[in-house]
Amino acid sequence: MTTNNLNKKNESKKNQNNRKTKKNTDKRSFFPRKPKVPIQPYKIIPLGGLKEIGKNCTIIESGNDILVIDCGFAFPEYEMFGIDIVIPDFTYLKENIKKIRGVIITHGHEDHIGGIPYFIKEINVPIYASPLAMGLIDHKLDEHNLNPERHVIRPKDIFKVGKFEVEAIQINHSIADALAFSIKFPGGHVVHTGDFKVDYSPLDGKVIDLNRLSRLGDEGVDLLLCDSTNATKEGYTPSEAVVRQSIDDIFNKTDKRIIIATFSSNVHRIKYFIESSMKHQRRIAISGRSMENVLSLAKNLGYLDNIPDSIFVNIADIRSIEDKNLTIITTGSQGEPMSALTRMANNNHRSVRLKKNDMVVFSSSPIPGNEKVISQVINKLYEKNVEVVLASMIDVHVSGHASSEELKLIHTLIRPRFFIPAHGEYRHLIEHAEIAHSLGQPKDNIFILSNGDALNVTGKTATKVPGFTSGEGVMVDGYGIGDVGNIVLKDRKTLSQSGLITIAVAIDASTGSLMSRPELKTRGFVYVQEHQDLINEAINIVYNTLGYCMENKIKDEASLSKAIRDDVKSFIYKQTKRNPMILPLILYI
Ligand SMILES: [Zn+2]
Ligand SMILES: [Zn+2]
Repeated sequence: MTTNNLNKKNESKKNQNNRKTKKNTDKRSFFPRKPKVPIQPYKIIPLGGLKEIGKNCTIIESGNDILVIDCGFAFPEYEMFGIDIVIPDFTYLKENIKKIRGVIITHGHEDHIGGIPYFIKEINVPIYASPLAMGLIDHKLDEHNLNPERHVIRPKDIFKVGKFEVEAIQINHSIADALAFSIKFPGGHVVHTGDFKVDYSPLDGKVIDLNRLSRLGDEGVDLLLCDSTNATKEGYTPSEAVVRQSIDDIFNKTDKRIIIATFSSNVHRIKYFIESSMKHQRRIAISGRSMENVLSLAKNLGYLDNIPDSIFVNIADIRSIEDKNLTIITTGSQGEPMSALTRMANNNHRSVRLKKNDMVVFSSSPIPGNEKVISQVINKLYEKNVEVVLASMIDVHVSGHASSEELKLIHTLIRPRFFIPAHGEYRHLIEHAEIAHSLGQPKDNIFILSNGDALNVTGKTATKVPGFTSGEGVMVDGYGIGDVGNIVLKDRKTLSQSGLITIAVAIDASTGSLMSRPELKTRGFVYVQEHQDLINEAINIVYNTLGYCMENKIKDEASLSKAIRDDVKSFIYKQTKRNPMILPLILYI
């Protein structure tokens, strides 16, 4: 192109622009232009579920509205002695209680609903959940005598929670009625996958709604929160249909009494066990409280409609039934100490005595951390000559979470501007970030967050605010919520590792002199009868310490206690290399 031509082209462009400007000016004189709406910022704040598997809870805050997604609990970690469960810290939500419009639930697993009673006690807002999740939530709320507003939601439902327009989307997972959410609000469009896998042949026939997810991608998604649990796994997670094949094989081949342990919430799989049993003229007995509860809930919701009541037999009445005509479906697939299967393995189940002609099928895989207790149960089963079938032998279990190729599919369909890998330990989040990056997501648009961080999003920019609120879990012990902190835990650890020594000392309040021989008692430290010398020497140390204190006019309780504790502690450590808790009790008489 010659310079002349270029100039000509520019000139004509200029004229065009002039024309346009003129036109606009004319228009403005008749119709004043609307003031430009500023881009509305929003925040994503994870309170749980990041860098851990458990207590999932995420907040979206936009102006004066807050939406909470899921509210689960986590099981205590190894050194949380005596702690029952850990729930998210609701401090930020309590501070902003007036803004909270509701909580939406992806599905009924405990790491998504287990914290709800504790949440509702503090923050009474409406709950939105699918039929099975709501049934499980109802049960929890009844136990805690709570009655918040509740709405049952189903795939394709679109509903308003404050300013948030929420759409429920069918996905597949290891529990019935699991949902993903599309959440639209001024300034944002967030998609949260919940826990999911891509299953083209799920047992209930309801395939993940890839079509809708793809159209959401076309509409434009600002931010995706996506399950990372299996991000480290190559390929695809097998379909539930694989389990069906393996179960068929087992039922076809054996005449033994079959005992199947699985997760009570996997209603569709349990239904398939029941149907297979019916096909092979087997009756069904159910063992374990949570299994009974979930099945009666599933029955009420119509998930077991084609199954006659007569197929079930009470677990107390199984003796008269021949082995080849009986299937027992039980809890305990995770080796839980009080569960039905563990009680069977320990010979203390009221109705089931395991014997040679039994087959125990674990239709589950160990949740990380449970491997050891499960292997104890398995060894006990082997001791009884029971045939044991594990998921590592044949496919009697498949995961409910998407592997890397399925994650790639979701990213490709949704094409979000920003991405937060969710639901996973740190390594899972990192691997998931790598997957997204390998598909073209810029690293600057991927955010690995910790619980309690915030992501501030304004239009096309997003910034991470580390430590925005407390992301530490709150420990629940019996009726106490949050009253057990690090100091109490440290004491419990010391007690559990080296035991306790109490030293009772009676002192004359007027003279400050010792009234009687100090009394020393131990628990969990040494067996006193066999270590009387050590105890006597320790008492001598107490005498010496008190003598020194009297000489130096040290009389107050705190100083005396500290002196006794320090001297006895160093003596005991020298003699035994142990550090028991030492508790002086000073009595002034
Ligand atoms: Zn789940
Ligand atoms: Zn989960």
